[in-house]
Amino acid sequence: MTARGRRRSRGSLAGLVAALVAVGCAAGGVGQGGPQQPPNEPRPQPTRTAASPDASTTRADGTTSVAEFKEDIQGAVRIAERYWAAQFRASGRPFTPIRRIIPYQREGEVACAGQPVPRNNAVYCSAADYIAYDVNWSVAAFRQVGDAFVFYLLGHEYAHGIQVRMGTRYSFTIQQELQADCMAGAYLGDSVRNGQLELQDGDLDEFRDGLLAVGDDPDQPWFAEGSHGTAEQRTDSFFRGYENSLRACGLG
Ligand SMILES: [Zn+2]
Repeated sequence: MTARGRRRSRGSLAGLVAALVAVGCAAGGVGQGGPQQPPNEPRPQPTRTAASPDASTTRADGTTSVAEFKEDIQGAVRIAERYWAAQFRASGRPFTPIRRIIPYQREGEVACAGQPVPRNNAVYCSAADYIAYDVNWSVAAFRQVGDAFVFYLLGHEYAHGIQVRMGTRYSFTIQQELQADCMAGAYLGDSVRNGQLELQDGDLDEFRDGLLAVGDDPDQPWFAEGSHGTAEQRTDSFFRGYENSLRACGLG
């Protein structure tokens, strides 16, 4: 899936779960995000954090270069900005794009409200209104799952920025996370429907595979701080948004 419709293959799923459990906003404080407020999502538990996939699980089919990854990230950002600007315009509200998208490589290279952003993750930082992603980890996931995963990842983090702009409040982290998955689905589904994005064979499977890989452990309590939802819940939320647009996401 790309803005320009270039086709890419799915990667092997071997090692995927270990590589991707950390997805999503370990430091992505959302909500009451003043500069003094620490992120409200804890780091992944050490036992659930994994290094990037090794070479044996990485496809080397020549279609997943870092340059292509960067192009996809830029395309995903551009489409997200356009999408949310149109949504805000339609409801008569001003829209400011998320201020910065920051690739990083080392733990502590980027900080959110004084907290170092850990490796192997992507976050939205509400205190400074940026999205940051571990570029090595993201490229590895891109190679393993496929290019559609990059659009999902960006869409999910961008949705956290939208939640802040809309002043949405939650009782539990899981509500905000599943809503972000729904909003990511809506942004992608609507962008496919309006021709901004071209869907290719395998892209829907890539979303499914990526979402399965980022689900919480089944024994994690849903009400725990940092819960994102089981694989089934995240997949349901994403595709509810993908198929039915934002009205499925409980916004407003
Ligand atoms: Zn999130």
